[in-house]
This record gives sequence, C-alpha cells and structure tokens, in this order.
Amino acid sequence: MRLLLTNDDGVYAPGLSALHAALAPLHEVIVVAPETEQSAVGHAITLADPIRVRRLGPRTGFDGWAVTGTPADCVKLAVSELLPQAPELVVSGINLGANVGVNLLYSGTVSAATEAAILGLPGVAFSLGTLKDPDFTYAARVAAHLVGLHPSLGMPSHVSLNVNVPALPAHKIKGIRFTRQSNARLVERFLRRSDPRGHIYYWQAGETMGTEGDLETDYPALRAGYVTVTPVRHDLTHEDMLAQLGVLGLDLPA
Ligand code: MN
Repeated sequence: MRLLLTNDDGVYAPGLSALHAALAPLHEVIVVAPETEQSAVGHAITLADPIRVRRLGPRTGFDGWAVTGTPADCVKLAVSELLPQAPELVVSGINLGANVGVNLLYSGTVSAATEAAILGLPGVAFSLGTLKDPDFTYAARVAAHLVGLHPSLGMPSHVSLNVNVPALPAHKIKGIRFTRQSNARLVERFLRRSDPRGHIYYWQAGETMGTEGDLETDYPALRAGYVTVTPVRHDLTHEDMLAQLGVLGLDLPA
C-alpha cells in the first residue's frame, strides 16, 4: 500500500521512527510530519502564518517532509501538494500517551486520521498508553498488523480508526477489543508559579481519568490490558436532540 505517515509528537519522535521501521519494509511509505511537537493542538489548521516545508534527508531515515504546521496541515498539504499520488491509507502516531475518551478532541494524532477521513481517505491513529519510558516495539508490530488487515476491515468512507496499545510486555496484552469512546478525560491540574519579574503564570498538567469497568469502551479496556480499536466519525451532530428540536419547532423573534 501507499502510506502517508504523520504524527503530533514531531518528526523526530521515537514513536514515528518505530512506526516507520515497522511499515517501511512492507509498504511504500512517505512521512509528512510536524517540524515540532504539536500534541493537543486538536484539529487546528494554520491560516495566519505561512507553512514551510523541509525535505527530509537520508540522515533521518525517512523519505518525506517536515512541516511547520499542525497534524491536520500535514495531511492536507501532503495530499494536495507534496505527494505525487493520494495515499491509500494515512497512518498517524505512534503517539506518546493514550488517546481515549474525550481526549480524542484534543489529540493531534487522532485529528490527522480524522483529516484523512474528511478528505475521503482512510486514516488510522495509533497511541501507546504511557507517558514514561515508552517502548514502541510491540505497538509498532500491532500497527503493522492492523495496517495489513485494513483492506479487509471494510471501512466506510469518512470514518477513521483510533487504536490504543497498552504499555505492557507483549505476553501481558490480552487481545484486541473493538470499543466505543469512553467518558475518560484529562483532569486538569494547573501549576501556579511566579516568573523572575514576579508575574504569576500557570502551567497546565493533568491526568486522564475515567470510569473503570465497561470493557466495551476505550479507557477501561486499555487499562485492562487490551488493544482498543474505535471507529471514529467527525460528524458531531446529536441525532436525538436534533429530532427533539424538530418536533419542538421554533419561530423567529417577532
Ligand atoms: Mn502527542
């Protein structure tokens, strides 16, 4: 397959190298990834600034470009300008840290796969469930496995896949579960500090927390040691509320 690889941790991130190492022997792979870390930029695109591109040399081990933009910029620019032919699959990751629950909205990793879906291309995002001492080796094997299976999954257009791999030794991973998004979210903790001139500033930190137990959803299943695969759509319409409002009907102000 012709694959476009991207991420939100930046072109030098070890997760991207691991993904590339696992996929390049099997597929035709081009990397178009952000020049710098873009974690938690969500689906932002760059409009007020130019987007600069830098051809990646042989030293990086990649064929492709580094882009001074967001993950969504990378996918758009790759598809409309940089690649000679549209990719057959856009692969994003492997992110440092899980992307589960509400965090999908903040995630640049997931947004790259979503951007592919918006453009009518299949996309898949991979994340590793740890922020500390990551070992991407097995997650990269899972990625290569799922990318290989992708043609047989029958993905509808405008849908992408969000995959999380537990940060566990391979023999402790229990299997693959197809899941829904959970209610997990980043619970903020603002560190309040003072700069050298005495001005107060805040630094946002936090931890993903959610309700345990429901293995049909991503966060609990990941915590229980499963690889989670969630099909994701970008249409945010709440169908029930829309139907309810339709029955209600509203008039313009007099
Ligand atoms: Mn990231």
